[in-house]
Amino acid sequence: MKVTIDASLCTGCSLCYSDVPEVFAMSDDGLAKVIVASPAGDLASKAKDAADGCPATAIIIAE
Ligand code: SF4
Repeated sequence: MKVTIDASLCTGCSLCYSDVPEVFAMSDDGLAKVIVASPAGDLASKAKDAADGCPATAIIIAE
């Protein structure tokens, strides 16, 4: 799987990088960035949960 963030949608709410700091982090511009683009196993599951929970639907998961 591949994780990306649509920066035009992200509001910087912090949810994803608070919940899954192994995959997401805050970038210099205050928005989220992906630090592990191809998570596997448990991390993949957490990344999917973060995508489901993103209030801006900014996290894109490609299989
Ligand atoms: S949960 Fe969504 S809107 Fe919030 S920081 Fe992460 S990508 Fe951005």
